[in-house]
Amino acid sequence: MSSSIMNTYGQRTLQFNQGEGVWLMDDAGRRYLDAISGIGVNALGHSHPNTTAAINTQAGKLLHTSNLYNITNQQALAEKLTEISGLTNCFFSNSGAEANEAAIKLARKHGANNGIDSPTIITFTGAFHGRTIATLTATGNEKLKEGFGPFPEGFIQCQFNDLESVKALSSNTNVVAVMVETIQGEGGVNPASDEFLNGLRSLCDANDWLLMLDEVQTGNGRTGHYFSYQAYDWKPDVLTTAKGLGNGLPIGACMANEKVADVLQPGSHGSTYGGNPLVTAVALNTIKTILEDNLLENVQHMGDRLSSQLNKALKDNPKVADIRGKGLMIGIELTEPCADFTRKALEKNLLICLSKDKVIRFLPPLIIEEKEIDLLAATIIDLINGLGK
Ligand SMILES: *Cc1c(COP(=O)(O)O)cnc(C)c1O
Repeated sequence: MSSSIMNTYGQRTLQFNQGEGVWLMDDAGRRYLDAISGIGVNALGHSHPNTTAAINTQAGKLLHTSNLYNITNQQALAEKLTEISGLTNCFFSNSGAEANEAAIKLARKHGANNGIDSPTIITFTGAFHGRTIATLTATGNEKLKEGFGPFPEGFIQCQFNDLESVKALSSNTNVVAVMVETIQGEGGVNPASDEFLNGLRSLCDANDWLLMLDEVQTGNGRTGHYFSYQAYDWKPDVLTTAKGLGNGLPIGACMANEKVADVLQPGSHGSTYGGNPLVTAVALNTIKTILEDNLLENVQHMGDRLSSQLNKALKDNPKVADIRGKGLMIGIELTEPCADFTRKALEKNLLICLSKDKVIRFLPPLIIEEKEIDLLAATIIDLINGLGK
């Protein structure tokens, strides 16, 4: 195959030219139920009128000025995100990986400020934090790392959902932070247990480590809370997010609590585009729509509806190993790899994707309604019941 595009994504044959709500349309006018929403990005679905209006209004005024100047929308977005999260301040990036890079730099600098020579961050097996060299180092998937070494020092990997493996590092004086996803998305839709997350918070407090949550995927309403940690009675020290925030425009954020809000200072970090007038106008609008249209309640309701239909129909199916997740971040683990499943779903006008070879994964738009959930569930149940037949 020869192409002018680098082959990082393999062969792609399907192409869409329009979207509306939870639906994507191809050239032939065929409609697909989009249960993956651009990998958890199109929180408000496609062509949401609020997003279109926010883009149009801002594009007619100003797209970009750089961070040499104050940006009103950036200020407003930072205020909104700190109000929602209870954290102190924000740095804006253009992607999830860059938000995590900011968190990693912040943790290292915080360590350096405290006289630690080799600041080290604990990460976990199965984690995904991005594809830059540092975030790849933090990622717990050897296949993704192959051929890209040497990797930077300063990361130690512990076992996901195993608090003892983290406790064992309590005497390591170089550790400055723990970076973790509340539900590993790319790693196979693996929820961290309540016990594990609560335990990490206590352990971080006891050892004066930063608890850094990667909510790039779980944030912005995906699990039914604005941020997934809001299901607990504690807050992280550092929080990153991206995907759903821009509803399709590239934006990420790294937030810090009062303890580390002043670690990054002029000259220590930055981004040319980060938080520009356009993306921050759109992100503000995404948040406003999620809150005003009660989409958090919708996610809880639709997530329960989907989970209960799947559980009821599939829990005794010998091909199904597990059904798990939270809100509208749900995975069905099959007992065997199912590479062909995506194509089979496509034949039924349904877009899903796989994670870890045998986990069928759903990340539908947060605006999804009952009849669309029912169609999604019925189609998947049919397909799984038909496996091997
Ligand atoms: C997608 C994702 C990233 C990387 O985000 P990019 O925008 O692709 O750089 C990082 N962490 C998690 C948890 C993700 O799901």
